[in-house]
Amino acid sequence: MARRLPWLLFLLLFTFVVAIPADALAARYSTIVLDAGHGGRDNGAKWGGVPEKRLTLDVARRVRKILQKKGVRVIMTRNSDKQISISSRAAIANKYRNAMIVSIHFNAHRNTKITGIETFYASSRGRTIASRIQTRLMRKIRSKNRGIKFTKRLGILNKTRGAAVLVECGFISNAHERKRCNASWYRQIVAQQIANGILASR
Ligand SMILES: [Zn+2]
Repeated sequence: MARRLPWLLFLLLFTFVVAIPADALAARYSTIVLDAGHGGRDNGAKWGGVPEKRLTLDVARRVRKILQKKGVRVIMTRNSDKQISISSRAAIANKYRNAMIVSIHFNAHRNTKITGIETFYASSRGRTIASRIQTRLMRKIRSKNRGIKFTKRLGILNKTRGAAVLVECGFISNAHERKRCNASWYRQIVAQQIANGILASR
């Protein structure tokens, strides 16, 4: 019995020192798919000469830069001003196992007084990510917190297999919000907070 003790100790050490930390460090989501809304002939919303498609791509690129510095694998559904269908976006995301999909949009409403930030999800895993991103955005941006919202009506959330969220980063139909959405300092804060939410969810 005494002879077996060293081996038992070795096994115990192996389990705690090698096996457990390796597993704990493994990310739940091995790939982050960033989906810049709209593009090409599809401007998305367009107010005061500011097209949504340009803002979404810029924020997606900024998020990518932050994540890549942390060694995270990032895929973009588009990285230029081109039109791409929701099905094609989903097909790109669905090529990766354990992917997290973050779709980036800016909001608009006929009522130009409406402002705020909101994040949509369609699954329980999506809800967790949405909550983390929304919380971090509201921590740094003074705007109406429109909260996280469950929906089954957004294609990018329905057609993707991974955990997916859609972030609405501000209303370009509101003059005040449009002005800052169009400013790079604001998009950098948005990108940093979205990236922080993603990193906290991995
Ligand atoms: Zn949009």
